[in-house]
Amino acid sequence: MPRPSAKGMAQPSVDQSTRLDSVLSIRKGRLYVEACEALELAEQFGTPLYVISETQLRQNFRRYLAAFRQRWPEGPVRVLPSIKANFSLALRAILTSEGAGCDTFGEGEWFAAMSSGVSPALISVNGSSKSRELLEQAIEAGARITLDSEMELELVREIARAKGRRASVRFRLRPRYSELRQPSDFDPAGATVRDLARRYKPGIPTEVLRRVGRKALVAPELDVTGVMVHLGRHSTDLEVWRGMVRSVVDVLSDLKQAWGGWEPGEIDLGGGFASPRDPTGRLTPQGQSRPLDALAPTPEEYAEALTSTLRSELERRGLIAEGKALEIEPGRALYADAGLHLTSVRHVKSQQDPIPYRWVETDTSEMFLLDSLVEHNRWTPIAVGRAAAPPTHTADIVGISCGFDVVVPQARLPEVEPGDVLALLDTGAYQDACANNFNALPRPGTVLVRGAEAEWIKRPETIEDVFRRDQIPSRLKRPGGLAEGR
Ligand SMILES: *Cc1c(COP(=O)(O)O)cnc(C)c1O
Repeated sequence: MPRPSAKGMAQPSVDQSTRLDSVLSIRKGRLYVEACEALELAEQFGTPLYVISETQLRQNFRRYLAAFRQRWPEGPVRVLPSIKANFSLALRAILTSEGAGCDTFGEGEWFAAMSSGVSPALISVNGSSKSRELLEQAIEAGARITLDSEMELELVREIARAKGRRASVRFRLRPRYSELRQPSDFDPAGATVRDLARRYKPGIPTEVLRRVGRKALVAPELDVTGVMVHLGRHSTDLEVWRGMVRSVVDVLSDLKQAWGGWEPGEIDLGGGFASPRDPTGRLTPQGQSRPLDALAPTPEEYAEALTSTLRSELERRGLIAEGKALEIEPGRALYADAGLHLTSVRHVKSQQDPIPYRWVETDTSEMFLLDSLVEHNRWTPIAVGRAAAPPTHTADIVGISCGFDVVVPQARLPEVEPGDVLALLDTGAYQDACANNFNALPRPGTVLVRGAEAEWIKRPETIEDVFRRDQIPSRLKRPGGLAEGR
């Protein structure tokens, strides 16, 4: 038997390129987003900067759609990405070109969906307590209204009547979630998914829906298309997801009995699917016990858990799966790993006394990566110009605001110095959407990468932008200049 030559064995080499995922790679020690070198992006566009990979966003959408379509041959499958995760119009235009629907909340997101060409029939107009103006526009356009209360139902009927139109509506449910005793990744105190979900406001209480829904079914102004539910990203435990579906079918069975055999034409199971490296909740006690390299369930695993449970539960409770449309509303699962955040090191500080400590001070802020606080996220840092160098130091990566501003606590990094650029992975969902102007900081812009091309899709704010809405009443203005605030 021929022995493998030394050449045939895997040899580490300086030229070796390592793939981190389908669009991120390390080549000759440098981080690349598709075919763009991260360092060059930082030089060309400046830092701090949000970067999004068009290829990853498209791939994520296609993979979720295919995973659910393959596993739900019973009826149509529609993906309605939640626009709140990232409401950049260019990103929405990409998803629209893929044929995606949209979950919207409020006038702003409705505007974003409509102005980027989403077909109204594929839009869910969501939210507890929607304004009359929003309902009017949605009914006019023929979008589906996901009803949240009896009051809203009456308002929709009234508007539809006045306009001489039929409105498409579905009911947002409030299942009991009795089984979901697992801890939520959102809560550092370890509250259960069930307890948090039961206090979360949206949806029509089932005891109200039993009575109200009957009216909707016979109302001449309404087409009732189905039901919607959104548990959210409390847990990556697939047993939580199966329990969620069982609880949804529980409500459907209840409604079927109450309403003389009614079954929904569509079931929308909402979002909350994790992105692969999943930064969410990793700073909570339970999140810290997750190994840093542990991956979240794949789209196929989520699809299998949801569709197989839905199929068997519907059958067990005497409902018909055949013909029912299935919808999902992924947000973070589409956007998070399509994005990274680039920041430059401004200063490295260390002390020995009274406690040994090291800070890598950067030009970004937790205010631009707000889920460091809100969802206790831990970002994966990479020194983009030394991406293959082994870590030698532990430091808090901190931001420029006056707060603690810990962007990544106790990060393991190679030696870095002022001017070096760091990438924080998986920041494509919610971080731009939640960024604020604390300390009068102008918010970073967003660059879209496709192959070797990169271009602005959202320009960075200027200090002028930060103060654009301010007005100083003339009585407070000093002659010859601005108020000096004495
Ligand atoms: C936020 C939200 C989503 C998306 O949640 P992710 O955790 O980003 O997947 C989907 N549907 C509704 C109704 C939402 O409020």
